[in-house]
Amino acid sequence: MTARHWQNVYIYKNEQDHIETMVSISRRWLLRIFAAVGGASTLAGRFPFLKLISANMLERADNRGATTRMNAKTHIAVIGAGAFGGWTALYLLRRGARVTLLDAWGPGNARASSGGATRVIRGTYGPNQPYTKVAARAAQLWKENQKRWNLKLMHQTGVLWMVTAGDDHFERESLPLLRDAGIPYQELSVQEMAARWPQINLEAVHWGIYEPEGGFLMARDGCQAVLDGFLAEGGEYRQVAVVPRDLDGKWDSVSLSDGSKLDADQYVFACGPWLGKLFPETLGHRIRPTKQDVFFFGTPAGDDRFTESKLPVWADHRDRFLYGIPGNQGRGFKVADDTRGPEFDPTSGERTVSADGLRVIRDYIAFRFPALKDAPLLESRVCQYENTPDNNFIIDRHPSHENVWLLGGGSGHGFKHGPALGEMMAGLMMEHKNPEPRFKLERFRR
Ligand SMILES: Cc1cc2nc3c(=O)[nH]c(=O)nc-3n(C[C@H](O)[C@H](O)[C@H](O)COP(=O)(O)OP(=O)(O)OC[C@H]3O[C@@H](n4cnc5c(N)ncnc54)[C@H](O)[C@@H]3O)c2cc1C
Repeated sequence: MTARHWQNVYIYKNEQDHIETMVSISRRWLLRIFAAVGGASTLAGRFPFLKLISANMLERADNRGATTRMNAKTHIAVIGAGAFGGWTALYLLRRGARVTLLDAWGPGNARASSGGATRVIRGTYGPNQPYTKVAARAAQLWKENQKRWNLKLMHQTGVLWMVTAGDDHFERESLPLLRDAGIPYQELSVQEMAARWPQINLEAVHWGIYEPEGGFLMARDGCQAVLDGFLAEGGEYRQVAVVPRDLDGKWDSVSLSDGSKLDADQYVFACGPWLGKLFPETLGHRIRPTKQDVFFFGTPAGDDRFTESKLPVWADHRDRFLYGIPGNQGRGFKVADDTRGPEFDPTSGERTVSADGLRVIRDYIAFRFPALKDAPLLESRVCQYENTPDNNFIIDRHPSHENVWLLGGGSGHGFKHGPALGEMMAGLMMEHKNPEPRFKLERFRR
């Protein structure tokens, strides 16, 4: 243990009798000891006096100010500056940690799942899930932060769900959750929809949900804004890669692509579709990247019916789940198919869209948006989802490293939640709490 690892921590056992316990111990070493014996509670059970210095108390001590003195801030390394890592780094910094953020290619780079221009933000999410509430919190934080940075990252065009014949339980059972989360919505009849958006052919649509405060977010620009905010508030960023080597096994520090090493108290790995490669034993088969094609079509000259001023974001939940974002920044009308594509390597995969995928989308827009029948393809791009088996996120400590957190598995719907996840992660880490069972790795063992 080097001198830098030792910290004097003064903990008042309780504030009434003012019994002061001085503990001179490295928090990092303490976390390692906890990990070796199976967690803080096991250790405290075996050595009751250690209850006084449980990790929980050390963390609480962090926040107590007057009764606590620590010589150094917790140093947390966040690896990955996408939607998950970037916001986590920012909120950890705001909670008082010293944070180093690393990314191999930069925030929202062309290979990252957070790359590209835009992402949908919506609250309709079906039954029995936590995401409607998380999306509501995220929307509030997107607004707060964009105001703080004087940027427009969230475009509240509204989101229209077109509910087709047959099984509508996804939309129907979303309604109480929208209500509970305080997300405004309207149930619309086909006649009401036709009157508002005559540019949509509503054949086979039975009813709709309209979320007036939903819309789209700037993706790549959003990630860059988070990094700029993080730097402005005192964070440290390096464009460098963590070298993938047995991170599931024993290690003290991480090796970086520039030949240096990084040694932090705690680590958050938020490496999107790369997470499984970095932790093959723990996550290899639990995060499956799939190729997802995205298309941008040219709208008719002088016609604004398919741009953000006249059309909301839309979702069409039929046999396939297709969705789109109206034209913005002169980029054309975006359409994509949420169906999972083939497996894809995020580092070396060639990013060319499939001819079959383009045909499906062309047939679809000719049917649903007849005026775009012959619209030219302006742009296309390939991104990847990082899918978990149940499409729920992974938010958990590494099973053999108490001070290493794994954060990912966005499964095609993670971007919008970025700020709420960042805030949640900072709370979990700084207050030594456990994540919801739904997000923990344990769920895969049941
Ligand atoms: C086509 C498409 C459409 C989507 N639509 C939506 C939508 O409408 N709404 C929504 O909410 N979500 C959507 N998503 C999902 C969402 O974009 C992702 O879930 C989210 O962006 C994942 O963010 P992340 O930070 O986990 O991953 P990433 O953005 O991939 O970030 C991971 C970062 O880690 C870095 N990294 C990797 N390995 C290393 C290493 N060894 N060392 C250092 N750095 C490393 C990478 O460079 C990268 O920047 C969509 C995704 C796609 C692909």
